[in-house]
Amino acid sequence: MRRAWGEPPWRLPSLPALAPACRAGGTGRPPPAATAEAIIIGAGLTGMAAAYHLARRGLAPLVLEAAAIGDGASRRTGGIVLDGTARGGLEGSTGALDELARLVALERIDCDLQLGGCWELEHRAPGSAKPPLWTDNGVELAVRASVPGGTVDPAALLGGLALAAHRAGARLYEHTAVKKLDLAPKPQLELAGTVIRPRLVIVALNAWMASMLPGVRPVTSAFTFACATEPLAPAVLETVGLAAGTPFYTIDLPYLWGRPLADGRVVFGSGLIFLAPDQLERFDIAQEEPQALLARLESRVRKLHPALENVGFSARWAGPVAIPENFTPIIGRMRQAPQVLVAGGYAGHGVALSVRAGRLLAEAALEARPLPVWSEPQL
Ligand SMILES: Cc1cc2nc3c(=O)[nH]c(=O)nc-3n(C[C@H](O)[C@H](O)[C@H](O)COP(=O)(O)OP(=O)(O)OC[C@H]3O[C@@H](n4cnc5c(N)ncnc54)[C@H](O)[C@@H]3O)c2cc1C
Repeated sequence: MRRAWGEPPWRLPSLPALAPACRAGGTGRPPPAATAEAIIIGAGLTGMAAAYHLARRGLAPLVLEAAAIGDGASRRTGGIVLDGTARGGLEGSTGALDELARLVALERIDCDLQLGGCWELEHRAPGSAKPPLWTDNGVELAVRASVPGGTVDPAALLGGLALAAHRAGARLYEHTAVKKLDLAPKPQLELAGTVIRPRLVIVALNAWMASMLPGVRPVTSAFTFACATEPLAPAVLETVGLAAGTPFYTIDLPYLWGRPLADGRVVFGSGLIFLAPDQLERFDIAQEEPQALLARLESRVRKLHPALENVGFSARWAGPVAIPENFTPIIGRMRQAPQVLVAGGYAGHGVALSVRAGRLLAEAALEARPLPVWSEPQL
């Protein structure tokens, strides 16, 4: 499966240790059903974190991924890491930054994790004593606060997590879509040419969640957009206020987020196109609406600061997000099949949180620990 969603600046590290046995998808060979005690559906950050934690606790889960590892939101994300959730610091969601830092250190994942903080920007009326950072469509944009957070190379993080999960015993099958998941009387997965009846299933599908689990609490799925500038000279980064590498997001509308990269490029993101989960695969960034939206974003960036007036762009892409009711992420067990666990719906706040959610799911599955009360998967 090849998705026409544009290419982000991140590249997955080559993962030779995972080939060929674990990247067996694409050959059309179904995974060995006999070993499928635990199945994880979706190889983004949630799925790979769950796989890592299950494998470290002695289970050897199979991770089934419809496309390539990270080819949903996780390799297309902006890679800004934040604590808590889009709804704030819900129970069980705080401390996610420290947890991520510990995991990265423990597994020696080379993913340029920087935790120097993140700016909250706000549009404001002119006249404040403090000069604005930028001008956004004629309105001043100023730093309101610095909050805990930072940046990571998300593809390097995901690749490192996949390797660590593999070392611990997890097995990844790319290009292996789960066609159907029946919950009752016992969980049963249909794949091309095979049926698997595992003891445990973790659904880590985020924007696709509702298409696999009808009746799940609905999340609104959408594509959101990003672009990366050409590398900016250090003097230009200094002039536009980004020399320290601090990421940023606006707390009001029109929404804008972004972050500098180590090579001087700067990623900016904004905009949404809503699509039902079963329409996601058909989305094509070359279509008129996404192209118009990306052109608007680039024109907006060029007007933020005179030093950006003639900036060129090196990458444009879109990725799927899942926006839950009240921005409260979903985590829990399916009521009619408690051995099926689900997490997702992080909105634009899922990098550190998905890694946390993967651990919470693994612990709940194997150690019967209660899951935090965010949004239950079922209505
Ligand atoms: C452009 C963009 C920018 C973002 N920026 C930020 C940010 O800066 N900071 C932040 O915290 N969050 C950000 N987010 C959100 C964050 O990236 C996500 O919340 C997080 O990556 C979700 O991870 P996940 O593993 O739950 O989902 P995903 O990474 O989407 O993984 C789901 C996987 O399921 C697979 N799949 C789908 N159907 C099937 C099937 N039938 N069978 C098997 N597999 C299937 C998909 O191919 C996909 O790989 C951003 C998202 C986008 C799109």
